[in-house]
Amino acid sequence: MIFFYGLRSSKLKERKLSNTKCPYCQEENSFIATTFGKYFHFFLIPIIPISKTSVAECSHCKKTYAEKEFSEDMMNSLIRANSTNPAKRPLWHGIGCMLLIIPVFIIIGLVIFSLIYHTTNDVPLSTSMPLDNRRTLLDKDIDKLSENKVFESDSITLLLRNCITGYLNPEIDRNTIKYLTKRNKNKLLILLEIRDIKKIEAKSRKQLINLIETCVEGMNLDNTDQFFIGIEGKYNTVLVKTPVDQDLGGRFADKYKLLDFYDTRKVSDSISDIRVDSIRVIQDSTRVNPTP
Ligand SMILES: [Zn+2]
Repeated sequence: MIFFYGLRSSKLKERKLSNTKCPYCQEENSFIATTFGKYFHFFLIPIIPISKTSVAECSHCKKTYAEKEFSEDMMNSLIRANSTNPAKRPLWHGIGCMLLIIPVFIIIGLVIFSLIYHTTNDVPLSTSMPLDNRRTLLDKDIDKLSENKVFESDSITLLLRNCITGYLNPEIDRNTIKYLTKRNKNKLLILLEIRDIKKIEAKSRKQLINLIETCVEGMNLDNTDQFFIGIEGKYNTVLVKTPVDQDLGGRFADKYKLLDFYDTRKVSDSISDIRVDSIRVIQDSTRVNPTP
């Protein structure tokens, strides 16, 4: 009958016990000691190593002795043998334990990673930490892109759209691109949402930023010399460029690098204290829909 769980043991090592005398037949150095390792198993899978025990057999009279029956010289000889030639357990005695522990370590690792990630990215972990209100401002501006709001178009956005459309990769459906431009003193925020950006190879996407820069510089805007450009893909920010920083890998960009566009880092829920000269979101409405 196979038990579902319990103790099993396996032979670890056989050694001769020197300087011993059999208490039964008085033969000298006749003992062969066998050491076993016990382990707890579950469905025959070793889970936890438990203990080791040794049994000695006299090769002359064949009498066997459990470890607790060892004479003093037998025990001393076993200790000496263990120090020079120890009976080590094979790794598989704890294989079940390792299989159980590995997922636990993976989970702990993930928790630590997410804590570090959130700490380094300044995401508040609790409401007791002050929220950078510029994040709220930026997230709201990005939301405006996807909310499909169509405002009256201002000159910057219109010029930008016309400029970009002329140079854009023909595979991109330019009618679905959304634009938001916003001025704050000498700073200009330019946000684009290009939902089918995946049609452009990731490494080529930074050319979009170059194109936008070229377009904006061509406008010769008065008193505007700092550009904060962010491009949203279908799911996340894919490109960011500011006067001092950039994420141009083309897949994942840290949108919060754009925060310096907004003036102050105030701990407040109010966004009304940020003065912005113009906010415009347009979606190209020139698309002709031929369906009857
Ligand atoms: Zn004997």
